[in-house]
Amino acid sequence: MTSTTTHTKDLTPIEQLEKLDQSLSALGFSEALIFWDSATLAPKNAVNGRSETLVHLSEFYYNTLVNEHIHQVLIDLEATKNDLNDLEKSKLQFFREEYDKVACVPVDEYAAFKGLQALSSDAWEEAKEKNDFSIFEPYLQKVIDFQRKYIEYRNKGGHPYDTLLQDYERDLTVEITDQFFDRLRAVIVPLVQKIKDSGVTVLSPFEGVSYDVKNQKQLSDLLLEKLGFNKDSGIIAESVHPFTMNITKDDVRITTHYYEDNILSSLYSTIHECGHALYEQDIDVALGFSRLATGTTMGIHESQSRIYENNVGRSRVFWETYFPLLKNLFPDQLGDATPEICYKACNYVRPTLIRIEADELTYALHIMIRYELEKQIFEGKLNAKDLPSAWNELYQNYLGITPDSDAKGVLQDVHWSEGLFGYFPSYALGSAYAAQFEVAMNKDFDVNKAITDDQLILIKNWLADKIHKYGSTKTPEEILLIATGEPFNPKYFTDYLLKKYSDLYNLG
Ligand SMILES: [Zn+2]
Repeated sequence: MTSTTTHTKDLTPIEQLEKLDQSLSALGFSEALIFWDSATLAPKNAVNGRSETLVHLSEFYYNTLVNEHIHQVLIDLEATKNDLNDLEKSKLQFFREEYDKVACVPVDEYAAFKGLQALSSDAWEEAKEKNDFSIFEPYLQKVIDFQRKYIEYRNKGGHPYDTLLQDYERDLTVEITDQFFDRLRAVIVPLVQKIKDSGVTVLSPFEGVSYDVKNQKQLSDLLLEKLGFNKDSGIIAESVHPFTMNITKDDVRITTHYYEDNILSSLYSTIHECGHALYEQDIDVALGFSRLATGTTMGIHESQSRIYENNVGRSRVFWETYFPLLKNLFPDQLGDATPEICYKACNYVRPTLIRIEADELTYALHIMIRYELEKQIFEGKLNAKDLPSAWNELYQNYLGITPDSDAKGVLQDVHWSEGLFGYFPSYALGSAYAAQFEVAMNKDFDVNKAITDDQLILIKNWLADKIHKYGSTKTPEEILLIATGEPFNPKYFTDYLLKKYSDLYNLG
């Protein structure tokens, strides 16, 4: 980075930090485009070139961040921290944390891991397609080995898995997550049992019926418009696994997947990904081209997708309001249906194998299974080869069902192939944050009335003002205080589940 040093020698330390931010943002921009391409249009054989490119790009990233010059800039700024404004302080903290996180890993290992991620997700895709875990197993073991080493390099103390949890949710530990899941389990397990005992079955107009893909696409477009998605700063495309790629706040790309025999899949993945997209699009323009101009943590990000998917999209009032819109697009399929039937059908609780198709109540059990497995991997109790049988055993324990293939079992999620260990708990945390946000929002305006009035924009405006605009300049704790006036309280979520499902299944 000698050229950077020459160019920047006349800059003040804060100007040098700004320059670092912009250089790393440019690399982030390039990487994001590569990932977008790999998940949408790139041909199969592109993987080798992509893997090579990512090795070199991550080497650039590493060397731009980790060097004597930047080290000194951080020290100088920390010594004069009181002279910085709030945004500058946030940037300093962000890059100090990023520096410490990256600098402890040798550059060749850091870069090699990026290359491995590309090869590993490719192997996972093939393994899933062929229902053959052995194709993926050696890659998964390498990914696990790297993460174990990475935990050692970072040497944070505590439970080894804490280090990975904190990559996705600041300050999260195994101890806190165990307590959170214990609370959830104490409410969800008896509730699922009562629902099973109630003998209620739901006749779904969405099952065994074909929904034309062309009209599903039209529905996605209509929903995006109502939710407030800015089409000049975002697009929707198709991919096998729906996701959101935030390139900048003005270029937020989401995907969905259309199945003729499962309209709820595209309906809810479009709403979910749009929730992520609104977060990114509504970040304050003042943050500029910056690494901080993105959502603060995965837990908060998931709260924004899940509040739309579940609290809004799986509510009775949503179906009362938007049923005519669906019926208009699918008059034959929904001729005999009513909003109430659709509401019950999209909240039909039963044990299923696939996480992303699960109902809102059993969903958390899918997350707990993954959490238990990851915890055991990083306690050194499980390796790649043990995962298919450990997976099946936990599905039997938690949900009373066993997958008949690894494709529907241990191979179903992309996360492990990309090394995203520690990510899954963010989904459950996101649901819990969402419940707390909804209660706070209702103190400012009647959320159900906004939905009834076809004014989803009021929800977007509230979230933008309380959460989105801050990007990564606030921690989850600070966001919760700003938006709800109190720290995180999972009771909002358990109360929400108890009320919703007692009513749905007449549990009295
Ligand atoms: Zn999500």
